[in-house]
Amino acid sequence: TSFAESKLPENVLDCCKTFQKPSPIQSHSWPFLLDGRDLIGIAKTGSGKTLAFGIPAIMHMLKKNKKGKGTRNPTCLVLSPTRELAVQISDVLSEAGEPCGLKSICVYGGSSKRPQINAIRSGVDIVIGTPGRLRDLIDSNELRLSDVSFVVLDEADRMLDMGFEEPVRFILSKTNKGKCSFFFICLIVCQMVMFSATWPMEVHKLAQEFMDPNPVKV
Ligand code: AMP
Repeated sequence: TSFAESKLPENVLDCCKTFQKPSPIQSHSWPFLLDGRDLIGIAKTGSGKTLAFGIPAIMHMLKKNKKGKGTRNPTCLVLSPTRELAVQISDVLSEAGEPCGLKSICVYGGSSKRPQINAIRSGVDIVIGTPGRLRDLIDSNELRLSDVSFVVLDEADRMLDMGFEEPVRFILSKTNKGKCSFFFICLIVCQMVMFSATWPMEVHKLAQEFMDPNPVKV
């Protein structure tokens, strides 16, 4: 219920210094996510959900000592249904990740691919993107997901409503999470977080297929 209780390092909490205490979704999600569990969060924009998954994602990378690898294989991948949400998430994760030496980039359709490709090539830890453009960049081998060990699906219900089920499945199948669920055994541990405002059958099915059998529900 307080930032001190979370025992998170100072540089990780840098982005929270204007807040009094963790929001409810943050204080409920952090312990499980920091413990490496898969998690389903039912939360709306405005609840503080970005840092609910963002801070554990940063801790995950720091623990793995993955920061600043300078490769085009990110460790953390965040899927967003819209460009606006992707940019918003990217702003939050850039601010939170920078004091820890982590680089984020944002990729979305409807704008030139070249600057996004250059950004990936210059090395990246966290990629935030919309499904169509992410698939494009994976198809052209600019983006490789073989090192991804922390995946977030934000606004999963909206993503499926907008018809992104196919690219979402394609993208997940390229992460270690997809390979794990396919081979049933998990050699490379990959953590997955899903946030959704509602819980329709299609989202439930996606979670069943790609997440651990007993994800935490918050
Ligand atoms: P989000 O739901 O992630 O879009 O966050 C909504 C707003 O809540 C943003 O403006 C955040 O800066 C803010 N916020 C995030 N965490 C907290 C917190 N612990 N206390 C107060 N505001 C917060």
